[in-house]
This record gives sequence, C-alpha cells and structure tokens, in this order.
Amino acid sequence: MNYITIKNLEKTYNSGENSTHALKGINITVPEGKLTIITGDSGAGKSTTLNIIGAMDNADSGSCIVGGKELVGLSEKELRKYRKDIVGFVFQFYSLSPNLTALENVQLSAELSENPLDAKEVLRLVGLGDRMKNFPSQLSGGEQQRVAIARALVKNPKLLLCDEPTGALDYETGKEILSLIKKSCEDMNMTVVIVSHNSQITPIADKVIILRSGEVDSEYINEHPMDVKDVEW
Ligand code: ADP
Repeated sequence: MNYITIKNLEKTYNSGENSTHALKGINITVPEGKLTIITGDSGAGKSTTLNIIGAMDNADSGSCIVGGKELVGLSEKELRKYRKDIVGFVFQFYSLSPNLTALENVQLSAELSENPLDAKEVLRLVGLGDRMKNFPSQLSGGEQQRVAIARALVKNPKLLLCDEPTGALDYETGKEILSLIKKSCEDMNMTVVIVSHNSQITPIADKVIILRSGEVDSEYINEHPMDVKDVEW
C-alpha cells in the first residue's frame, strides 16, 4: 500500500526576472512503512519534493496525497496540524535549539505533539542515554544528529522526512546515522523518505526514486535491501 501518492506535481520558483521550473509534473508513490530514498544531482528537485510532502512549501498544481489526505489546497491551519501530528523532520544541519540540553530539545518537541513517546526513552533508543544533560555545543556532529532524530521520533510520527541527514557527517558517523534511521523505520513501522545526492546509499532502501531536472528519471524497488554496514560509498 502506498502512503504517499503524488500526481502531476508542479512547482516554479519566481525570483525577480528569473523563474525556475523546479518540478515539471512529477508522479511518485511511496510505500507505507518502508524506506524510500529520493536521489539525483544537485538542483534535480529533491528538496522541493520533500518540502512539499512535509507541507513546508506549496505546490503550484497537481496532487500530493499523504495518508489519504490531499495536501494541495489545505488551509495554513490544517497544514500546521499535519506538520505537528504526522511528520518528523531531520535536516542536514540538525537545527537544535542551542540553549536547551539534548533532553530539553526532545521534550520540547514532545510537548508540542499530539501523541508523544517518552523523551528519555527515545534518547536512550538513539544511544544517548548518558548525554541527555549536554547542550548541543557539547556534543559531536553525530550525537547532535542523534538528538535531532530523537526530537523527530519522540513525536511518534507516521512519516519521517530526512533531507541529506548525513551531509555534514564523516563516513563512519554517516553510516551509524543511516543505520539508526533504517532501524527506526523497521521498529516503529514508520514511512521514511530520505533525500540524498549520494546514489551509493540507495541499496539500503526498499524503494529508490531518481529525479533529474525536475522530472522522475527512473524508479525501482529493491526486493532485498542491504544492511547499511554492507554498503560502501
Ligand atoms: P535538489 O534538492 O535536488 O538539489 P532543489 O529542490 O533544492 O534541488 O531545487 C530545484 C531547483 O529549484 C534548483 O534549480 C534550485 O535552484 C531551485 N530552487 C529551490 N528553492 C528555490 C527558492 N526558494 N527560490 C528560487 N529557486 C529555488
């Protein structure tokens, strides 16, 4: 079953005299409870697609149905509720609150959620049981990304959206973070979409979608997705 169905989705950015046709009517489906990776070169439209799925940006036309709900045309209030209740986000640069500890960052997210998990438990789950009282500046990049993942997971989201989640990390730490995301997808039966320019990681996904210049270049299912530890890049 598909959790996300996108049809003829179009987006043009207008800035001054320039306009960029970022999405030229794409059609995509994302299977429920599985890990999907959207890849493609820089400028292909990956982040634009993810931002529309996450209701952080509006499409110009077309349809984006998530969990049976059409996002295109929803009011700002409905979109806010959707972001709050359904979606967890993980970004390249963690975007933690610097003045809050790891635990407080995760608790804040829990307090703003409809159906949260226990913040301490989730921090233990991501391997930070002994770092809860640290501020972001006292944590490594990998640890900060773990806090960011905990902050997303504590919402108990149906959908986890990750934009270049390993982009700021070294190779080994990047692998650890991908393992954590993949394991969370499996353990929590969560639909996960990762956007990455690194096509080498695609063997770990259940489904792969390749974008090129605002169009779907190709897509395929991995019948036997690989363990992160067995993939080299
Ligand atoms: P990717 O994530 O694959 O690198 P993006 O979705 O970020 O690609 O961008 C697709 C195209 O849209 C690019 O040409 C980019 O420059 C343009 N674009 C993205 N966001 C904006 C914006 N806010 N204003 C103007 N152009 C944008």
